[in-house]
Parts: sequence; C-alpha cells; structure tokens
Amino acid sequence: MKFRIKATCCMITLISLFFGAGGSALISINFHTSLQQEKTTAQESYRMILNTMQIVNNMDEWTDEKDISKILEQLSAQDAFGAALQLHSQTETLYSKGKIAAHFKNLSGQTDVSHLACTIFSAPDTRYYLQLSGSFFVGREAYYLDAAYDITSIYEARTQQQELYQQIFIILVLTCAFLSYILAYFLTRPLARLSKASREIASGNYDYRSRIKSNDEVGAVSGDFDLMADHLQNSIEELKDAMERQNQFIGNFTHELKTPMTSIIGYADLLRSQALSKEDELDAANYIFSEGKRLEQLSLKLLDIFVSEHESFTLTKASPADIITNLVSHLKPVLIKENVTLQCVCEDGYCMLDTDFFGSLLVNLIENGRKALMDGGTICVYSEMTTDGCQIKVSDNGRGIPQTALSHITEAFYRVDKSRSRAQGGAGLGLTLCAEIARLHHGTIAFESKENHGTTVIVELKGGLA
Ligand code: ADP
Repeated sequence: MKFRIKATCCMITLISLFFGAGGSALISINFHTSLQQEKTTAQESYRMILNTMQIVNNMDEWTDEKDISKILEQLSAQDAFGAALQLHSQTETLYSKGKIAAHFKNLSGQTDVSHLACTIFSAPDTRYYLQLSGSFFVGREAYYLDAAYDITSIYEARTQQQELYQQIFIILVLTCAFLSYILAYFLTRPLARLSKASREIASGNYDYRSRIKSNDEVGAVSGDFDLMADHLQNSIEELKDAMERQNQFIGNFTHELKTPMTSIIGYADLLRSQALSKEDELDAANYIFSEGKRLEQLSLKLLDIFVSEHESFTLTKASPADIITNLVSHLKPVLIKENVTLQCVCEDGYCMLDTDFFGSLLVNLIENGRKALMDGGTICVYSEMTTDGCQIKVSDNGRGIPQTALSHITEAFYRVDKSRSRAQGGAGLGLTLCAEIARLHHGTIAFESKENHGTTVIVELKGGLA
C-alpha cells in the first residue's frame, strides 16, 4: 500500500475517533442536562402535590377515600401535573388516573417520607416516562403517591441530534479524507522523486538526480542522496577509465613482448636449423642478446611500476641535494664518454622523500636526456626547496619533444619515435614510472620542450618538509 494511502487512512481513523467520541460525548451531556432539568421540574411539581396532601392530612382527619380522590382530582387538573397519578397503600389502590398508571413500577421499598424514589420506564406506546414516588403517613399507615411525567421529547431530541450528527460526521470524514489525501500527496511527492532517482540510478542512468529544493529533512536526505550519486558516478567513471587504461596497458604490453620474442625465436630457430657462418652465428647471437636485454629492461621497468603501485611507500627525511650530487658524480664519467656533460645546481635542505624512488626518478630523467642528445650536449639537474617539499628540474639541449606528443608521454608504452626509441632500448615506461613517483609524493610532473632546442622536465614533490 502506498505511503500516502496509509497516511490518509491513519488521519481518517484519528479524525473518526476524535469526532465520533467528541460528538457522542456532547450529545450525551446535552441529553443528561435536559433529563436533569426535566427531573427537577417534575420533582418540584410532585413535591407540591405531596405537600398539599400532607397539609390536608394534618388539617383534617383522613376519613374518606372520596375526599382523597377529590383532592387528587383537583390537583391533577393542573397542567404541570404529568401523565398519570396513583395513590396506594401497602394493600390497596385508593386513586388512579391515566392509562400509564397501570405500568407504574412498585417503588414503595425505595422511598420514605424524606426521600423520593425515581425511575424511567418506557410504556407500550413507545413513549418514555419519568416515575416519581413518595410516601406519607396517615396515622400509622403509609400511603404511596406515584406520578408519571412524559419525557419522550428529550429522547426524541437526542435521536434527532444523533441522526444530524451522523450526517455531519460523514460529510466531515469525507472532506477530511479528501484533504488528508491531498496533503499526504504533497508531503510524499518528494519521496516519490527520491525513489524515482534511486530507480533511475539503479538502472544505469547515473546522471539522474533527485534535486529536491526544500529546507526540511527530505531536502537534506535528497542533498545527501545526490552527493552520494555524484561520488558513485565519479567512482564508476574512474573505474571505467582504470579498466580502459588497464586494457590498453595489456594490449601494449603484449605487443612489446611479442616483437622481441618473435625475433628471439626466429634467430634461435635459424641457429638450430641451419649451418651458419661464424659471422652470421655471431650476428644472430648478438640479436638474441640485445632483444633479451630489451625484455629484461621491460620487465625491470614494469616491476618498478608494479612496486610503486602496490608496495608500501616510506617517506624519510632526506637531502635532495645530497642524493643528486652523489648520483651526478657517479654518472658523470660514464656520460662524458658519450660527449655528454652532466651538471647539477642544488639548494641545501631536507624534505620527506622515498629515497629509492627519488633515485629512480632522477636516473630515468637523466637517461631520457642522454637519449635525446644525438651528438653530445649538456644535461643540467636543478633542485630547490619548496614550502612542502622540493622541486627538481632536469633539462637538456637535445632534440626536444613535439607539442602534440607532450600530453601523451607519461602514458605507458608511449614513445615519440618508436623505432629510434626501440633502438635505444626504451619501452615507453620511464616517464610512466616518473609520473607515478611524483603522484606518490603528492606532486606533479610537467614538461617544457622545443623541438631541436631541448627539454626541461619539472617535478614537484610534496611529501612535506623534514
Ligand atoms: P623510454 O623508456 O622509451 O625512454 P619514456 O617513457 O621515458 O620512454 O619516454 C617516452 C618518450 O618520450 C620517449 O620515447 C622519448 O621519445 C620521449 N622523451 C622523453 N624524454 C625526452 C627528452 N628529454 N627529450 C626528448 N624526448 C624525450
């Protein structure tokens, strides 16, 4: 059952209970007040007769039944007297007037001279009567006077009120039911929108939002829901991107693996199936060796990336200047043989670094600079301290990177010039690893390059100051 129907039913039940009970109580109070008034009036009239009887009795010796009947006749002639009158002793009825007198109840046991007995009875004519009964003594004998007063009008008034109230009640409940439904509809409309939004999102429409603008709790829930949907959508998009990247990575990796493997298998097959000259044998062995080396490089780079992504990463207090100077002093003699001058300008200071990854970052950037210098040149490493770590710049005056390639060079297996890179032993993973190292240090990597002039790689590391 819908919530708005439930709410309407609850409201109707409550309204019915309150109005039903309230109306009944009101009619009942009204009825009892009228009955009480009628009783008071009847009692006054009755006491008048009884007092008169007692006065007459005190003045004259009560001798004759005819006298009594006469007095009662005179008294009953008055308007206020009622519907029936009866005088009786314990043994006989002395006077009786009115048809209803036959239906009097015997209240002689409940009355005495100081106390009136009272009851209500309905006669066969479907009318209601109030019976009052009192007693007085004549000599030693007790006499009882019963009087009946028609109170049907009070019962009729109550029935009329009840019927009228029933009609009012039905109109009231129907009106309230209608208004309650409208109210419940407007109150639950935001919930319906929220429910639609969750169904839309569940069915894959991640752009759908509930967008309920209200300052109440439903508005707050809607805001939270939309926020959750935003996060969910971002996570799903990130997941899709990651899957896409992963698929691309696997494709590139398989390709990178296939090329050297095909060469290795081809040359190995040549060696085992044909008798080759010493020179050709050496060529084949060299080819197998260099392709094997390439595979080794590839697996080492991949291992580094895998380690950077999955293994624990520890930042320790370190001096970038010390690490750079040390590395430069080791690489300088090797590079000088290739006509490459390696220099460094470093600012002293300490910051938080993973020294292994920092070393790997520098080696990769210097190596790329070396590969870019065809006929020798200069590679410069600069470092300076920043507010939350350090900035490293590695620049060379090599062949530079085309502008169109700049946005892709950190992608795995991306190479600007595939054949040249392959010849130089690259697999397009060096800058991927550098970008990953920068990310692990909460930093960034950026490139400034001009073709045939050189490249500067700027790495910001934000592991914090020591
Ligand atoms: P690789 O391991 O093949 O060197 P990288 O990811 O390190 O791959 O670099 C990607 C590509 O970017 C390389 O193929 C190279 O062409 C280009 N590149 C990187 N650094 C430089 C640089 N300093 N000068 C010119 N080209 C560069």
